[in-house]
Amino acid sequence: MNIPFNKPYLTGKEAHYMYQAVYNGKLSGNGEFTKRCQRFFEEKYGFKKCLLTTSCTDALEMCAILCDIKPGDEVIVPSYTFVSSALAFVRAGARIVFADSMKRNPNIDAEQIEALITPKTKVIVPVHYAGVACDMDKIMAIADKHNLLVVEDAAQAIDSYYKGRPLGTIGHLSAFSFHETKNIISGEGGMLGINDERFIRRAEIIWEKGTNRAEFFRGEVNKYGWVDTGSSFLTSEVVAAFLWAQLENMDDIQAKRKLLWNKYYELLEPESEKGAFVLPDVPDYATNNAHMFYLVCNNLEERTALIKKLKENDILAVFHYLSLHSSEYYKDKHDGRALPECDRYADCLVRLPLFYELTEADVEQICKVIKE
Ligand SMILES: *Cc1c(COP(=O)(O)O)cnc(C)c1O
Repeated sequence: MNIPFNKPYLTGKEAHYMYQAVYNGKLSGNGEFTKRCQRFFEEKYGFKKCLLTTSCTDALEMCAILCDIKPGDEVIVPSYTFVSSALAFVRAGARIVFADSMKRNPNIDAEQIEALITPKTKVIVPVHYAGVACDMDKIMAIADKHNLLVVEDAAQAIDSYYKGRPLGTIGHLSAFSFHETKNIISGEGGMLGINDERFIRRAEIIWEKGTNRAEFFRGEVNKYGWVDTGSSFLTSEVVAAFLWAQLENMDDIQAKRKLLWNKYYELLEPESEKGAFVLPDVPDYATNNAHMFYLVCNNLEERTALIKKLKENDILAVFHYLSLHSSEYYKDKHDGRALPECDRYADCLVRLPLFYELTEADVEQICKVIKE
């Protein structure tokens, strides 16, 4: 038996809708499938506006433009995250002030944010790691008090909630990913979520190369031209058509992932109670969208041994982020503060295979090897 770490799941309708998009004779962006996908999110979760983008990274770059990031502005980002959470703001000239994770889970420690705020701070970027919510009430209260914007990196957080509120709808702006490693995929793909109405008009312009093309096609202006900065952030209709097939099957995909996640948890709980490792933490205020199943080992040596043992049994498990504050690109720009929880997750966290076509028997086999 050979168990990969991830296998992209196809619902069966992707090619059908892509064919339809092609024969609609409209291949570029902002067509019927794009609108259908955007409406799905707006209606199901209550975003003020959604825009499909070519990636979550691009959606984050749009956020940096919308937040009007200028050279020297500071942005607070957890160090334990994917590069893009920081990179999108760095490209706009921001200095990243890295925050540490919580003890209980890898999310940003909201208690430590206020001490990082200076007169130059403009944005806080909470990342909902593994689709589990950050403590958004605390983060929004800090942002209100200091007049900061909040951009949720919700790349992993589709269909997950904080105190009943969908993730991505709480901050001023948010970014989602449909990369093939996420729950709902389109190969490469992403989405900008807008919750503060004052950003909608400008976001549409930035999305379409700095032009007011979207307004023109709605008949709101009688000519279109270059009115602002921007890029080609919108996704092709062919990709949106693929995504639509996934969204139609979201409930089924989520149910299967949760079933497997719960099976892992149940089978590994006895080992965790003996102190072999720590299981994923889902606080009372959060839900689990089964994006990821991870273990936190006691130290680097035990994690290395576990990954090796799984590999010998043809099971591919992977470790995750290396701390961004000590990355080759940013270490000299970091202010030198130690971020011990972040470093601990970088050393000790291991992700186990989790994808739609994984079977319960596979999970049993993986857990058996882990117990050994
Ligand atoms: C996957 C991921 C991204 C990047 O998503 P892309 O769609 O590949 O650009 C950004 N942030 C986090 C936390 C992610 O997990």
